[in-house]
Amino acid sequence: MTKNDNSNISCNKGHRHFLFDFPKECPHCHSKIQPIPIFLYHGRVEFSYALLSCPDEKNCNMPFIAFYKNAQHDHNQFIFQNQTSFGRFKNKDFSEIIKNISPKFCQIYNEAYIAEQHDLLEICGVGYRKALEFLIKDYLILQFTDKSEQIANDHRLQKVINDFITNDNIKNSATKAFWLGNDEAHYVRKWQNKDLKDLKQFIYLSISWIELEEQTKSMNAEMN
Ligand SMILES: [Zn+2]
Ligand SMILES: [Zn+2]
Repeated sequence: MTKNDNSNISCNKGHRHFLFDFPKECPHCHSKIQPIPIFLYHGRVEFSYALLSCPDEKNCNMPFIAFYKNAQHDHNQFIFQNQTSFGRFKNKDFSEIIKNISPKFCQIYNEAYIAEQHDLLEICGVGYRKALEFLIKDYLILQFTDKSEQIANDHRLQKVINDFITNDNIKNSATKAFWLGNDEAHYVRKWQNKDLKDLKQFIYLSISWIELEEQTKSMNAEMN
């Protein structure tokens, strides 16, 4: 990386340093950025903390702290630890179709997503699993209004999926998401080579099939 004038920074010990290694994303607006260095603080033994700011003055202009480790071979070099202070959490925005079917799904999914952004990887999967249950049940309750009590109260989500989902694509992806979601809640993983990414992928697949089904329904209704 080349030295640029922007990287010249003063510290709490009265030196001037050059920073070369920066976070690539603003924790507030999540744009790809080259942050502006403001001040460097030498903290506990080998750690330093840089106060940086987002260069997008018009839309963001927020300061944040980036965590650095001092290089052992060169006391004037600082290695970014891939960690910054928290800004605004990313929010997954769902289509109007999904928001209308299940506002609760969107809320729980985003709570799990915040846990994931906090690196709480052992618990966010359970949150995604709960979100899935709301999505499936709300989707089915809208279709089977006379069976809403039965669908809502049945704790066996797999049975609900099997008994009520008629679209094979939705049934298939919801089942896989359900299996992987259960893995997130149990002591022993059944699907050793699958992880959180796969669970989210199957949730997205279920969503996409539900959206397709809803779009097909409303397009056809317009032409009847
Ligand atoms: Zn210094
Ligand atoms: Zn920003």
